Amino acid sequence: MKVMKFGGTSVGSVESLLNLKDIVNDEQRPVIVVVSAMGGFTNQLLAMCEQAQQRDISCLDTLELARKRHHDAIDGVVIEPMREQVHATIDRFIDESLKPYYLALATNPHMPVDEIERVCDAIVAHGEILSSAIVTGMFDDGVPHLSLNYMRTVPDGAGRVLDGEETERLVRRDFADLTDGVHVVQGFISRDKETGDVTNLGRGGSDYTAAILASLLDAESLEIWTDVDGFMTADPRTHPDATVIPQMTYAQAQEMCDAGAKVIYPPTIAPVAMKHIPVWVKNTFNPAAPGTVIVD
Ligand code: ADP
Ligand code: ASP
Ligand code: MG
Repeated sequence: MKVMKFGGTSVGSVESLLNLKDIVNDEQRPVIVVVSAMGGFTNQLLAMCEQAQQRDISCLDTLELARKRHHDAIDGVVIEPMREQVHATIDRFIDESLKPYYLALATNPHMPVDEIERVCDAIVAHGEILSSAIVTGMFDDGVPHLSLNYMRTVPDGAGRVLDGEETERLVRRDFADLTDGVHVVQGFISRDKETGDVTNLGRGGSDYTAAILASLLDAESLEIWTDVDGFMTADPRTHPDATVIPQMTYAQAQEMCDAGAKVIYPPTIAPVAMKHIPVWVKNTFNPAAPGTVIVD
């Protein structure tokens, strides 16, 4: 069984979602598909949090644009029998969850700082919740999962870290009988082990979700589908002469990620390296390109 992770640009448009569909349909079942929020939406959700705290409710206009973007994607990619249900899911999360959260931020000037943080964490999780509803609805054998049911964090200084033990127990429970199908999981999002509050694994954390699942479920490989042809000698945005590295070791990849190669979130490497699971970095927009494989 493979774990395939698709990043923000890979789920960010009808064109890329249709590529994702072709790529996943070439795979044997069961397969686990981990998705990010639609490209740019996480940043938007956070920017709207800032606006709401300034009591600027024009953030609700941006929310309407985001609603339209998700509905347009549904019309372009979701299979007919699922379409109405997925449209309704998107509206429900926007109207009954996101809007009340933003209004609470905008109308409570005395909200304590930890409460603001809690609300913003709950808000930002919606990126992956909405995109995963769309991706599940693209496959007639799509199976929805909720990573909030099993990814667990604990406080660590000012931030948070994964609670490996509790996550392992819950993942084993949730994935005990993996039926054939496309199992769609939200990257990035989690819950606090003690409080149950919605948390996350840090920006870029969907790669990490995918690696944790690949490791705990002994996947045959982890595939990171993104918007470049592989792990490159440098960021091609700033170094147009960068070239794809066909093969790397976990240690080499870790070193480059730690040095800022944003193509993979740094904590991703350890869980898969521990189990000797190969990691492929591939381009959703050019699936024929060989990509990069990261191995021992
Ligand atoms: P995704 O949304 O798919 O997770 P990211 O934006 O997080 O994608 O990562 C892909 C981007 O990483 C590429 O578009 C590229 O600009 C950047 N990048 C930085 N360093 C590298 C590198 N060494 N190799 C490839 N891409 C890199
Ligand atoms: N959506 C989250 C982010 O933008 C997680 C991810 O894409 O990996 O940081
Ligand atoms: Mg990323």
